[in-house]
Amino acid sequence: MARVLIIGCGGVANVAIRKCCQVSEVFTEICIASRTVSKCEALAEKLRPTTSTVITTAQVDADNVSELVALINSYKPELVMNIALPYQDLTIMDACLECGVNYMDTANYEPENIDDPEWRAVYDKRCKEEGFSAYFDYTWQWAYKKKFEDAGLTALLGSGFDPGVTQAYCAYALKHEFDRIDTIDILDCNGGDHGYPFATNFNPEINLREVSAPGSYWENGKWVEIPAMSIKREYDFEEVGMKDMYLLHHEEIESLAKNIPDVKRIRFFMTFGQSYLTHMKCLENVGMLSTAPINYEGHEIVPIQFLKALLPDPASLGPRTKGKTNIGCIFTGVKDGKEKTYYIYNVCDHQECYKEVESQAISYTTGVPAMCGALMLLTGKWNKAGVYTVEEFDPDPYIEALDKYGLPHRESHAPVLVD
Ligand code: NDP
Repeated sequence: MARVLIIGCGGVANVAIRKCCQVSEVFTEICIASRTVSKCEALAEKLRPTTSTVITTAQVDADNVSELVALINSYKPELVMNIALPYQDLTIMDACLECGVNYMDTANYEPENIDDPEWRAVYDKRCKEEGFSAYFDYTWQWAYKKKFEDAGLTALLGSGFDPGVTQAYCAYALKHEFDRIDTIDILDCNGGDHGYPFATNFNPEINLREVSAPGSYWENGKWVEIPAMSIKREYDFEEVGMKDMYLLHHEEIESLAKNIPDVKRIRFFMTFGQSYLTHMKCLENVGMLSTAPINYEGHEIVPIQFLKALLPDPASLGPRTKGKTNIGCIFTGVKDGKEKTYYIYNVCDHQECYKEVESQAISYTTGVPAMCGALMLLTGKWNKAGVYTVEEFDPDPYIEALDKYGLPHRESHAPVLVD
């Protein structure tokens, strides 16, 4: 039925591609294209005997719009799934517009070089006006709205778990459980243990940038920014147990603040062990998280990229990781004039994921929603022209697809709240 170009062949893409191949009646043909084509070929070779999806591969530098345009024009897909890095979001969106193809990704735009003066000027202005200092934000991609509308194309932003499923949970809560949502707490718990002293579960550069940045939350119509890791809570997660969690800035807060009417507060918490935090602080203190290039014995080195080369490849954590993730949203609000609370979440087992797709649960919980988002676009269930985040679409068919393809939701009408 559909031909899809998938860009990127890392941890998340590996899961999304395998999942697409499980739904070969929709994903009849896919092309896996990435910077390192040998990784695409190795995966394609492994999957071909297991699926009727026709798999081809291609080499592409997704930072280069004309290379992308040439690839898209020769493959002629109905959809481009961007599962490379947030650095490539805008170039891939530009190429999709030029070729008249729908677009989707799993994380919002972030520049690779945060010292670029042109980007910095826009960033500094936004920090002042909006009050949060994360390097990533939606404004860059929202700026494409009119162009996608005029072209009659859809761009679906952030169809992973968080962002992604968490926003579908918010839309679901608003549709079925509340007349008005007052507060949203997004809780992301990884109870997995990979046995290494320090490793990140997805791309280290993106991951470490995110967690070493100041935290922030939305309250009474504005951002409140706090020093990194300065708000800590404990929560007893089903099937995981008691964990420390810390308030972080997270991208879906920005779109939810616009799209959930009258919401008073939105916070995002992620669990971290003490050992992870100590390692991260130490690496930060010695400059290893820096993205500014330094000259070392005649070579230009970006410290965080060098660190990435030293750390275990997130894709290699799969066979070693034991335990579960538990990610979801807790709401307070009003239904039929009465105050109520509601919790919707998913529990995912690292080892079960590995058995199914040779990957740990972090890539799994992102790769499955990426496939489900693509499914919504390809089957016409989500089909308005423009640039949208997940909560702007009907959550029901998406949550149904997640239930079916490996991330079933659970719910509670009497959750313990976070103070
Ligand atoms: P990886 O680093 O494992 O994979 C990235 C892939 O993109 C690699 O195949 C890489 O190629 C390729 N790539 C990088 N730059 C280019 C380029 N210029 N041209 C072509 N290909 C390129 O990352 P992950 O799989 O962990 O993450 C993928 C995305 O998922 C990221 O955007 C991340 O932020 C997002 N994510 C979203 C989550 C969510 O819940 N929404 C959670 C986790 C991740 P090469 O092999 O050559 O390096």
